[in-house]
Formats: sequence, structure tokens, C-alpha cells
Amino acid sequence: MSHIDLKTAPKREDRLNACIAHGSTICEMAGAKGKKSCLHNDGDRAFTQGSICLLLPALAMLNTLPDNVVLQHSAIGCGSCTHSQNANVRFGSGIRQGKPKDGVWLSTALNETDVIIGGESKLAQAIIEADRRYKPFSITVVSGCVPGIIGDDIDTVIYQIQPEVNARLLPIHCEGFKTKIWATAYDAVYHGIGRTLLRRGEQVDAGDGLLPFKGLTRLPNTVNLMNVSSMGRIDELELERLLKSLALEVTIFPVFAHPESMVTATQAALSISTCPTHDDYFLSYLEERFGVASLIQHMPIGIENTGLWLRDVAARFGREEEAQVIIEREEKELKEALAQFRPLFEGKKVFISAGEFRALATARLLEEIGFTVVGIRSFHHDHFAEVEYAKLAESSSGDYVIDIANVQPFEEANLLRRLKPDLFLGHANGNGTAAKLGIPTHAIYHTALAYIGYKGVFELARRLHRQLKNPVYNRNMMLLGFVGWFLTEILKYIELKLTVWRIDR
Ligand code: SF4
Repeated sequence: MSHIDLKTAPKREDRLNACIAHGSTICEMAGAKGKKSCLHNDGDRAFTQGSICLLLPALAMLNTLPDNVVLQHSAIGCGSCTHSQNANVRFGSGIRQGKPKDGVWLSTALNETDVIIGGESKLAQAIIEADRRYKPFSITVVSGCVPGIIGDDIDTVIYQIQPEVNARLLPIHCEGFKTKIWATAYDAVYHGIGRTLLRRGEQVDAGDGLLPFKGLTRLPNTVNLMNVSSMGRIDELELERLLKSLALEVTIFPVFAHPESMVTATQAALSISTCPTHDDYFLSYLEERFGVASLIQHMPIGIENTGLWLRDVAARFGREEEAQVIIEREEKELKEALAQFRPLFEGKKVFISAGEFRALATARLLEEIGFTVVGIRSFHHDHFAEVEYAKLAESSSGDYVIDIANVQPFEEANLLRRLKPDLFLGHANGNGTAAKLGIPTHAIYHTALAYIGYKGVFELARRLHRQLKNPVYNRNMMLLGFVGWFLTEILKYIELKLTVWRIDR
């Protein structure tokens, strides 16, 4: 029985023994030098700072789906991240579909009364109203903590109301309290898609696996390229370019794919992951249930990893020689183009902070263009990354810090003070911490910028070169921060003196 046959996706602490709290080094993580890291999966810390819940990555995927309404069954504040995510939805739909389109999201806005009497009838009414008002192909009902605590059964509500509405209803279980590993969100969304959009009556035997219904056929040269929103269109185009050079047809799931088209994922010859952290849940299901083979290693970031990724794909279709020619040509051209940047990068210390796979693949890329990695902070750890730690331990000339931590700014700030990197690559939260310390920063993920494939290596190097040639902005930020702190202290002192003076009078 597949996990998708269960009502909800299991949390990653249980399914993958993933952990979010660990301090180590690259050699320990790789099990090198006879040592093996001791990882705990409880995620407990003596002191913990703010994290995010699984709603954020789930909504980042769901809001991109065209012809879909995201209905949050939760307290009103849950999913407020959708306001900032909408810029990405507009940009992404504009570039893919020729017209910017907002995501449509609603909330049942559960309040104190609902907590007492239950929110199921409110949810049923909201589904009917969303269906009537927007006439979408699908409605994704995303549950937050409150329905999980008060015991609202969103699956039963959906089951009962489905005959009354035209939209396909997908339950997406994102109760924030149930996991500390927000990557569980990818499983929760794939779970809803797998249970609802890939099941269409009686399955038919295609000879090499099942298909959801009669009329579908296996497409021997078509591959599913998975993107849960960690790639912008510019990166998708780069991977499409490489895959098409192997004479493969590419369909991209799930972001920005029409919900009705999801079923065609079952027809492909191969599903290709761009990040094992994201995709293993869905790809295992496609493989087990529909016979779609999958590739789930190597993130195509950096020269070596892009080559490994492409070789793996080519090997599945017996096109190794074609891949070899492409890789040699691309690498030669790229290495010549990178030569101009290398002198500035050589020996500069870099710290990387991101989701595990992206952080590790980016570390390898930065080594390839001349940087020295002094530390990596990953949001969580699971066994998929073991091969990446081994690669880095092998390529690195020395040992360096690995911190597994889910958004713990105090921990990151302390590490940065100690390691004093010349450059920091991270998401907005980590970049804020590093910038205040005067360290030049660069976004490790931005859907408008190239990171992936050979093009990504060059574009990232070009951007870093421009930034490091003049790192004054971040130094000034630190100076301004210091001046601000100093003035605040003086004002506090003056206020104290005035208070004492008033009391004395
Ligand atoms: S942790 Fe719970 S209450 Fe908070 S945003 Fe996430 S789902 Fe909502």
C-alpha cells in the first residue's frame, strides 16, 4: 500500500527520519575519517527561534495552479504569506501564459465561535460559494492548525459536498503543529494531487504499468520535469534546452500546470527530480502505481552536478554518447567564459544557507568557480543528501562547519561572526542577518534569476563578480546599523537622566 492510500501524508520526521537540529562538519556528515554524525530526529533545542510552518511552501505551489481556488480552512492569519507570494504567481503566469494572473485564495477565517461549535458547515458553505463565484476546475482545501485541533474532518466535508459542485475538491492537510519539518508540505500537496487528480475510475494496463483510464497511452520520449516552485521559468528553459538536446519531450509539474493536465504525468517514460527534498514522495507513487520510472539524485546546479544529472537521464534512454558530446561542448564553453571571474573569487570564503540539497549543490558550484566554502546551514537533513555530503567532502581541501537548523537566526549570526565569510548566499531571512554584519549577500533563490544548469553557473558567477567588485553597500549597512544602535543608546541614556532629574525635583 502506498502512503497516498492513507488519508494524510505522514510527517517527514517519521517517514524519512529527517532532523532539524544538528551541528557537525562536512567530513563527519560524509562519514569520512571513520566518523559518522549522530543525528537525532526529535528537533529539540534548548532555545529556539521562529520558524515557518508547512503552509508557506504548500501555498507557494498551490497558488500557481491556473483555474484553481485555494481555500484555506484556518484562522485568518494563516497563509498571510500568499500576499508576498502573489508577485511570483503574477510573474510566473505572465512569463508562461503571456498574461499575469493573480492567485485566487480565500479563507474560512475561523474565529473563537467556530473553535467552540466547529467549522465544518462554514467550510461547506465556503466551497459552494467559491465554486459558484469563480467556477474553477479545482478547489484545494488547505487545512491549518485550528481544524486539526478542534477535529474538523475536511475529508468528510469534501466527500459530502463534492456531488453539489463542479470543481474537483482536493484536501491538503497542512496543520502546522503536526511537523517541524516544513518540507512535509511537498508531500501534503502531492498527496492531494495523487489522491484526486490522478484517479479517474478504473485503471488500464499499458503493458509497462497502469494508466488511470482508457485512452491514455505511454509516451516513450516524454519526461516529467518536477518543479515545486524552486525554479523560475528561466531555469526551466535551461533544463528543457538540455533535455531537448537529448531528443526528449518535457512536461513540467506541478507548478503552473493546469490541474486537469496533472493526469498526463502518468503517461511519461521517466520523472526527473530537480531536488530530492521536494519530489521523492510523488515520484515513488508515480513509479509504484503507474510504472513511471524516476530519477531522484543530483540537483542540476553547478558544472559537475549538471553533467551527472544529464548523464543519468541519458542513460535511461540509451543516449549516453549524445550526452557526452553535449556535456563536453557545454563545459568547454562555460569554463572559458568563467575564466574572467576566477581571479576575484579565488580563495574568498563563502557561507551558504538554504534547503539541504540546494545548499549542498550550490556549495559545489561555488568551489568550482574558485570560492572556499567555510560553512553550510541546511534547514533539515535526510538520507537523500548523504551522497552530496560525500561529494563535497571529497572535493574540499579541508573540513568545515555544517549546521542543520530550521531558521535559527541567533545560531547563524554566531556562526557568521566566528567564520567571517567574504560572501553569504541564502534566503531573505539569512541574508538580512548577514547583511547587518557587513557581509556581501546574494539570494540563493529568486525565480527571476538563473541558477540551474550551465547557464545558471555563468549567470550566478557574473552576478557575484559584479557584487564582490564593490561590496560597499553591505559594509554601509553594518555602519548604519552601528550608528543606529549608538544613537538609540544615547537617547536611552538621556531619557534615563531626565527621569532621574524629574524624580529629584
Ligand atoms: S502554524 Fe498553524 S496557526 Fe500558524 S500559520 Fe501555520 S497553520 Fe496557521
